[in-house]
Amino acid sequence: MAKKTSSDYCSFCGRSDNEVSLLIAGMSAHICNDCVEQAYQIVKESLDTKHQGQSLGNIPLPAPQEIKEFLDSYIIGQEAAKRYLSVSVYNHYKRLMQDTEDDGIEIEKSNIIMVGPTGTGKTLLARTLAKMLHVPFAMVDATVLTEAGYVGEDIESILTRLLQAADYDVAAAERGIVFIDEIDKIARKGDNPSITRDVSGEGVQQGLLKLLEGAIVNVPPQGGRKHPEQKMIAVDTRNILFICGGAFDGIERNIAKRLNTQTVGYSSAMKSVKIDKDNLLQYITPQDLKSFGLIPEIIGRLPILAYLSNLNKDALRRILTEPRNSIIKQYIKLFAMDGIVLTFDEDVFEYIVEKAIEYKLGARGLRSIVETIMIDCMYEAPSSKKQKIHITKEYAIEKLEKSSLDRLKAL
Ligand code: ADP
Repeated sequence: MAKKTSSDYCSFCGRSDNEVSLLIAGMSAHICNDCVEQAYQIVKESLDTKHQGQSLGNIPLPAPQEIKEFLDSYIIGQEAAKRYLSVSVYNHYKRLMQDTEDDGIEIEKSNIIMVGPTGTGKTLLARTLAKMLHVPFAMVDATVLTEAGYVGEDIESILTRLLQAADYDVAAAERGIVFIDEIDKIARKGDNPSITRDVSGEGVQQGLLKLLEGAIVNVPPQGGRKHPEQKMIAVDTRNILFICGGAFDGIERNIAKRLNTQTVGYSSAMKSVKIDKDNLLQYITPQDLKSFGLIPEIIGRLPILAYLSNLNKDALRRILTEPRNSIIKQYIKLFAMDGIVLTFDEDVFEYIVEKAIEYKLGARGLRSIVETIMIDCMYEAPSSKKQKIHITKEYAIEKLEKSSLDRLKAL
């Protein structure tokens, strides 16, 4: 590099070395520290765009396969739901970047509804998604929502959560994603529109409809009715992606009924298709949601219908050890923090899974069973001088049988 003289100027912005903090000299030109920083930003942004194909401002846009790979490292199985979610989230990003001025084509959003038994990973999917997203994310439980004027939370509180997740940046919240859990709990009781008022059901669905359709909603920034004096913030929900989830207990009956009636109608065509009676959810259609009690307008606003299957023995076994933050990995880490190496015999895992199935606890029960087995160890180990702890099946059986099994069964 050439030596700097007092008459040196930045060749990019033209400022002299008295006006900048640092001036770097090249063979026949100079550059100041500010221009270096700006150039760095430009290079970074253009490389990001090149690598990702597209970008969302400064944020790289993950492709559906990348989103799914991320989900794979936390969620076992549920392939169909993971694919649907990956594509929907990817399209959501693309919608946010769309330019409608050139061709007048406006990509509409595709809100999602996930149907599957409790404890199969719906919430986990939504949470994991939130981890990798570059947009604000809020999670709400539909059961706490009621029509305005009744005990519970107003529907607008959903947007309060989103605003909070966006640090009250309204523009960011308007591009966010909302997960509404237990949507099945606000189903209308019975297939007929009710004559009497249905506080927690249809009325809430009507209220939600407004959000799903896209509207300017006045949102109390602190939420709820506790602060009546607060100034409302107007939020446009047109670009917010809504993901709903619910167990829809007993919806298999509606599906079976529909499949049976169809078989009568199109006997020759349908008889050749073998129906997998153990996993009827895979045949779910919007019609089944309607007969369960969701109003057609809501169903119409949730065009992507994904299902999650019951977890079998093999899936439960994998959930114990495979996900990036699997239960067993978490316990190993807990002990490692005390300088103790924790190991398990393989058949301990088989035993835990058998018990989870026997007590009908599903994936949610795995943690309580491991906790019951490990509690004495966790109490004693930090004060002992042990550096290694090995858990055998005999030890697991002893600890679990000693504990109150009824307590676990009641979970
Ligand atoms: P849901 O929302 O469907 O009722 P959750 O997502 O809350 O169920 O699942 C409960 C717990 O069970 C999760 O925290 C997770 O530890 C475990 N789990 C459930 N399904 C899966 C899965 N497919 N892969 C990994 N862990 C799972």
